[in-house]
Amino acid sequence: MPDEAGTAATPELDAAAGHLQRAHSILVTTGAGMSRESGIPTFRGAREGLWSRFDPTQLATRDAFREDPARVWGWYNYRRGMVRAAQPHAGHRSLVRLESLVPELSIVTQNVDGLHQRAGSADVVELHGNIDRFKCFARDHPVDLDIPVVETTGLLDPPSCPECGSPVRPDVVWYGEPLPAESIGRAGDLARGCDVMLVVGTSGIVYPAAGLPALARSAGATVIEINTTTSELTARAVDLFLQGTAGTVLPALVRKVEGEARGGGPDTPSGQGSDGA
Ligand SMILES: [Zn+2]
Repeated sequence: MPDEAGTAATPELDAAAGHLQRAHSILVTTGAGMSRESGIPTFRGAREGLWSRFDPTQLATRDAFREDPARVWGWYNYRRGMVRAAQPHAGHRSLVRLESLVPELSIVTQNVDGLHQRAGSADVVELHGNIDRFKCFARDHPVDLDIPVVETTGLLDPPSCPECGSPVRPDVVWYGEPLPAESIGRAGDLARGCDVMLVVGTSGIVYPAAGLPALARSAGATVIEINTTTSELTARAVDLFLQGTAGTVLPALVRKVEGEARGGGPDTPSGQGSDGA
């Protein structure tokens, strides 16, 4: 795996592995950086065809859907096509591995692509919904249909709710809509109850997710950030900062945790990095 190469062992990596190895309960939060490494452009990122003419923030609202359902449904059809074509990367898979090494691990994600679940993670809390799950516009009836992606970058009429006939929309959180109360409540509980929180690929500016590290830390957890650059959180709420992509740092970190779980504990000399093989 080319994306797993090149992570040098550092004191921070060793320290982070030690914290994870001793933890009973781990909370991982992931943001857009995690998905970008699977080739899913950010919301405002690369857009083709009709979609290059629209501001995505003007498409992801109730008003936009009411005004022109085919435009908004077409945009989400296009986004779903990109999500379905993407695959979980080494970082997603490493979190599945880590889950098997520790007593409790949960993931709270701002991403709507379901890649953690596709990788095999068991406990994923979705703060912003899921682009491949649906409900009706008028009454939020859950619509349990496998709706195929259509090969188009243009307008597309949404299907109708089998229960009330209202147009079907993606079950994601649009601008101006509240986050699902149950997900927010669960995320807060997990932050307050974890021993270690791993913050991966987030800008740290979208609340309430951005408030979780400080919440975890004030409850006594160690907060470890994995990011390509420092974020809004780094100075404020982070104990250890590991620089790099999720697809590079997570595999190296989890291999180290695994080595310590098998070996004599965090004080065992690691011996020329042989555990990185
Ligand atoms: Zn309905």
